[in-house]
Amino acid sequence: MKEKLFKRLEQLYEEMVEIRRYLHQHPELSFQEKKTAAYIANYYHQLGLKDVRTGVGGTGVVAKIKGGRPGKTIALRADFDALPIQEETGLPFQSIVPGVMHACGHDGHTSTLLVLAKVLFEMRDELSGQYIIIHQHAEEISPGGAKPMIEDGCLDGVDTIFGTHLWASIPYGTLHYRSGPIMAAADRFEITIKGYGGHGAQPHKTKDSIVIGSQLIMNLQQIVSRKVDPIESAVLSIGYFVADNSFNVIADQAKLGGTVRTFNPVIQDMIEKEVRRIVEGTCLAAGCDYDIKYNRGYPAVVNHEAETEFLAECAREVPELSTVEECAPEMGGEDFAYYLQNVKGTFFFTGAKPDNVVNPYPHHHPKFDINEQSMLAAARTLGWAALKSQLA
Ligand code: MN
Repeated sequence: MKEKLFKRLEQLYEEMVEIRRYLHQHPELSFQEKKTAAYIANYYHQLGLKDVRTGVGGTGVVAKIKGGRPGKTIALRADFDALPIQEETGLPFQSIVPGVMHACGHDGHTSTLLVLAKVLFEMRDELSGQYIIIHQHAEEISPGGAKPMIEDGCLDGVDTIFGTHLWASIPYGTLHYRSGPIMAAADRFEITIKGYGGHGAQPHKTKDSIVIGSQLIMNLQQIVSRKVDPIESAVLSIGYFVADNSFNVIADQAKLGGTVRTFNPVIQDMIEKEVRRIVEGTCLAAGCDYDIKYNRGYPAVVNHEAETEFLAECAREVPELSTVEECAPEMGGEDFAYYLQNVKGTFFFTGAKPDNVVNPYPHHHPKFDINEQSMLAAARTLGWAALKSQLA
């Protein structure tokens, strides 16, 4: 069974590449992925796979493959949204949509899962159990696609779920797994400082929102350094500080926003409380008003232990994976977290560093690219984990 699966996936590698490049040229932003969803559904219809639901929780697509014998229900998930980035790779299959790019590898996730599902469908008579193929929209922007897809029933009857991210910072041939938290909870905030504007020559008649904002940024730095137990992990980053004005005008208002990443819900709660307290205190000291929006994003991705060990064992049987090792958690966020709050499973990283590159461009960079061979490694790992689950 394993040999057959691996061989067939290898035979279809060129198709995987073709699909990935097509999707790469035609990216769509989160929550707007109508054409990509139609492409996915059409692919299954062409195969003769009839059990396909579209519009799941938004633009999600779910296909169901029934084996010839009873068994467990295994879900596999790939996301398919792109990012608001102008591509600069210069690749022959570069995005033809201005300002939109598959800069996180979700094109590769989608083609990996499409071709794997094709092989499972071809093999269905000899398989046990059923396979729920989850093509998820909108991973990049909270509240994300996973939650509404789950609410729309995509996990009904599912015993175990597996998912992977092609990861360009780790070499091709390496797979990273981890029991417990593997990706962080990702929260965001925006603070508006309501000062009092005026002439740059008469600061005493104003409340300078830029000076107050600068103090606030420095004060916020102390949450992670002075309030978080050094054994725990947390990060707070300010991503923007805007007070667009003229050189001789003291800004009436300033806006600053950032992100908070944590693994432990207790730390997550504490940081939100501290941010609110520090904003209130800093603005009180300056005698100005403020507005704060604090949004909880995805929770931490917490892998289940037995399923993670099992996945690692399956990965060690994949010929091109020479290194299968436990990794440190990543501070990035992922809405795969929601699936793991509902059913057992694991999320892992498949090494996808491009060949002959020492420092690959990071995910979400205009020159980001993946090593396409990682798709075959991912398909084999996911496929074998799904089939072997029936024997466990
Ligand atoms: Mn991603």
